[in-house]
Amino acid sequence: MACKEILTTGLHWWPKRTVLCSFVHAKQNQNLIFQQIYQSEAGRHAELQMLKDRDFLSNFKDKNAVDIILVMNYSPCYFCADELNYFYKKYRSAYSINSFNIRFSQLYKTYGSPPKEVKEKNIKGLKDMHLAGIILETMTDEYWFDLFSWTVFGVNPDHCRNRDNAMKTKLNTLKAVKAETAKDTASKAKEEK
Ligand SMILES: [Zn+2]
Repeated sequence: MACKEILTTGLHWWPKRTVLCSFVHAKQNQNLIFQQIYQSEAGRHAELQMLKDRDFLSNFKDKNAVDIILVMNYSPCYFCADELNYFYKKYRSAYSINSFNIRFSQLYKTYGSPPKEVKEKNIKGLKDMHLAGIILETMTDEYWFDLFSWTVFGVNPDHCRNRDNAMKTKLNTLKAVKAETAKDTASKAKEEK
């Protein structure tokens, strides 16, 4: 359900809760070493739950560089933006965070009907994260594929892409042979006439 919320938020509904899928990869081989889903509940924001989770924090204890990817239905609010910035600044050099990406399907209260001061605070939060070096991105076909591969099927999306590329090459080779055979048959038929 968590992934479905990230996929559908803003299409026909606006869930009251934030859903956050957290991924930590080892920089060296890009192996996934941590994966967890957090959801906001009773005023406890999903991002803060993650930042207080010992299992999440244990990824930064040794000095092996890691890449962090968060996928969310809403972008972080100004309060969480401050906390994420603090976390990143504190642990980036100390614990070798190589990159920190946040991907989301909807901007949270930065446009439309919310009060102006709320929108301004949230926009400032996003700008501060951007300036701190956190990579903020909207979702793409590739990122959706990554998200569903890991969370729904527990499969490494790169392995799927490598297989697809290998099959494409093989198929193209087969097609080329077939085209070559067809050409031969056609020219043979012509000669016989
Ligand atoms: Zn928040």
